[in-house]
Amino acid sequence: MKYLSEFDFKGKKALIRVDFNVPLNVDFEITDDKRICAALPTIQKILNDGGSAILMSHLGRPKAQEEKFSLKHIVSHLSKKLGIEVKFADDCIGETATQLASDLQAGEVLLLENLRYHKEEKKGNAEFAEKLAQLGDVYVNDAFGTAHRAHASTATVAQFFEDKICGLLMAAEVDNANKVMQNPQEPFTAIMGGAKISDKILIIENLLDRVDNLIIGGGMAYTFFKAQGGNIGGSLVEEEKLELANSLIAKAKEKNVNLLLPSDSVIADKFDNEANRKTADNMDIEASWMGLDIGEKAQAEFAEAIKNSKTILWNGPMGVFEMSNFASGTISVAEALVEATKNGAFSLIGGGDSAAAVNNLGFAQDVSYVSTGGGALLEFMEGKELPGIKALG
Ligand code: AMP
Repeated sequence: MKYLSEFDFKGKKALIRVDFNVPLNVDFEITDDKRICAALPTIQKILNDGGSAILMSHLGRPKAQEEKFSLKHIVSHLSKKLGIEVKFADDCIGETATQLASDLQAGEVLLLENLRYHKEEKKGNAEFAEKLAQLGDVYVNDAFGTAHRAHASTATVAQFFEDKICGLLMAAEVDNANKVMQNPQEPFTAIMGGAKISDKILIIENLLDRVDNLIIGGGMAYTFFKAQGGNIGGSLVEEEKLELANSLIAKAKEKNVNLLLPSDSVIADKFDNEANRKTADNMDIEASWMGLDIGEKAQAEFAEAIKNSKTILWNGPMGVFEMSNFASGTISVAEALVEATKNGAFSLIGGGDSAAAVNNLGFAQDVSYVSTGGGALLEFMEGKELPGIKALG
């Protein structure tokens, strides 16, 4: 595999797959530009070398060419960030894109319209990929967030290039994930949260061979309590995963992994920030109540395990953190991670909601690495080869 830092882009037009799938508000303003910022070092290195950059990305899940998914909403913010005027092609292939790409001068940047306006993108279509490939001299993939997809721009396109290069963000993501998955310093604690076990079974199984402590919080914990015969009231449950939950408990025991489930929960009488709330034992939640956050006892137990760890992986919130009254568990885990990091631990925050929580709390600089990949990071950690990385050779 070729790495960006080893490559001289002088005189080259680099076709770069970036992940600019950023959230926009109703006025099409970017509400979180982390993914754009994360791609800047790669773009800047190419420009500094005397090359030019043709950026391609998807945005959202357009069914047709819906305006709300247009990458034109990104242009002015990206221009500000780069300090140059970014050009825009209103289609990622075709005459205009070809002309703009061929006119591009050293030091200039061209952003292409949403790749997913063409259904061929998600199908990994070779003809479409070849049209994209014709726009650049070399291919760079810096879109870790979509590296688990075998799409035209993330995988198929690479076959049309001699020089296929791993971007700086992609390299950093892989490097940091490997720090956790290969020879982690012990004790190693993984914290899994969020709504569903079904999304995280494979990673949990893979982690059981590696971790000392496995902390399970969030909505997925209640399936474990129900499986153990607890009354979980109206809490989230995956009925068809009860057996699986019991088998994970047994596997953890067998492998000497300390499985920590929350001792208590903050329960609510409806799914609402203003609901009545109280603390309850997780084996005994009243019928009309539901667990929406971990309780104080659980917070203390989890914090203790986290602070005594040397390697920590966190993916998924401890409760419905979007509602302020049920965010304490997630905040307390974030705080424990910051303290452990201060004491020398390596802490990796998986993308998605846990990354958003860490960023919103202003803790991003106080942990070792916040991944930009949600699904991609999970699949990487499940031990799968990601198509976007494989295609780079
Ligand atoms: P995931 O995408 O699986 O990581 O799940 C994230 C979502 O899980 C967030 O939107 C949380 O609000 C939600 N969540 C976490 N804990 C709970 C809970 N106890 N009950 C319902 N939803 C939860």
